[in-house]
Amino acid sequence: MTMNDQWAHVEVLRLGHRPERDKRITTHVALVARAFGASSIHIDTKDPSLERNIESVTDRFGGDFRIETGVPRKRVMGRWAGTIVHLTMYGAPLDDTIREIPEGEDVLVIVGAEKVPADVYDLAHFNIAVANQPHSEVSALALFLDRLFKGKEIKRTLGGGEVKIHPTNVGKIVADHNDITFEQIIDPFEMDIDPVPSKEDCLGLLLALGISRPVLTHLKEVHRLGMEMVKASRKIGTLPDLDLGLLEAGLLLHDIGRARTHSIRHVTLGAELASKLGLDERIVSIIHNHIGAGITKGEASDIGLPAEDHIPLTLEEMIVCHADNLVGDHKRRPLSAALERLRIKGANAAIARMEALHEELETLLGIDIDELIG
Ligand code: SAM
Repeated sequence: MTMNDQWAHVEVLRLGHRPERDKRITTHVALVARAFGASSIHIDTKDPSLERNIESVTDRFGGDFRIETGVPRKRVMGRWAGTIVHLTMYGAPLDDTIREIPEGEDVLVIVGAEKVPADVYDLAHFNIAVANQPHSEVSALALFLDRLFKGKEIKRTLGGGEVKIHPTNVGKIVADHNDITFEQIIDPFEMDIDPVPSKEDCLGLLLALGISRPVLTHLKEVHRLGMEMVKASRKIGTLPDLDLGLLEAGLLLHDIGRARTHSIRHVTLGAELASKLGLDERIVSIIHNHIGAGITKGEASDIGLPAEDHIPLTLEEMIVCHADNLVGDHKRRPLSAALERLRIKGANAAIARMEALHEELETLLGIDIDELIG
């Protein structure tokens, strides 16, 4: 069977449906039939609620898939003018047999529930196994339809329906047909933003990347704390020269790599991502150097990162790094709590480095950081 010009006409016959026991699995058989390219499903036992469920899926998500229940198998098979395929673990191998199905014929695919009556094996033109192991009518049907349609069925769009799903890996985007939400979906790589983005653009970028809510909450709190350090320093007239826009973007974007992984590699993947997005090299560097109070080449390779120094050197890097140390998941914590975590891990070199960073920042900014922790 080829799918070049026309969509092959395939219908499914589900045998042995017991409404009290099989509602969920038969619903899944019907959903697979609909989603994977069949035109309709016939079910041997009457089940009005199952019919309503499937009809409401079609009304909502489109297409013209049909369902009938309470129809005897002999009637469906007896009136079938095309080829009949029965899926069974006892059948012939899928890949060899599917090639034998005559091109251009309509196909009726039969799947069972419990024991399938012997006459089905006889009346079927093909008894096909999707691996000669027991599994399920849902998986067997999905794999058979996918092979029959050569994978094209999953790229199809179904017309009509009340809503449309926009494919995305950044969450769930469902739009009303009347609404033009699709235009509002932002590709982070297509965003027109400065290399040092404004606060609003940083937040837009994070959302476009699909950053999770807890990470966003953490980033906002790190941003708040970092900016408060600057404000406190400015208030008493001790603020050294620093690029405020760069700091703000660095605070908000330092965990951008968490849009890809929560492992320690979020640091290097984040720096790479920022680079690909065309962000300023200084932001890339802030992201790269924000772990702990900085780690050395040797420590980096010990934890599976490329052997590179990750030491915060500029004032902006130091503020981002330490504001991050002083915000746990989303709440501020005193230096002692951050040090305690390192102590538990036995990271003695890191303890000394974090204490030194704390002191150095207090000296550079002329402030008591502990006062901001509350
Ligand atoms: N014991 C039943 C029988 O004798 O046919 C099979 C029960 S099985 C849970 C339900 C249905 O899943 C089968 O009727 C068949 O359609 C499908 N199925 C399960 N394993 C299969 C396989 N390896 N290949 C093709 N279909 C399979």
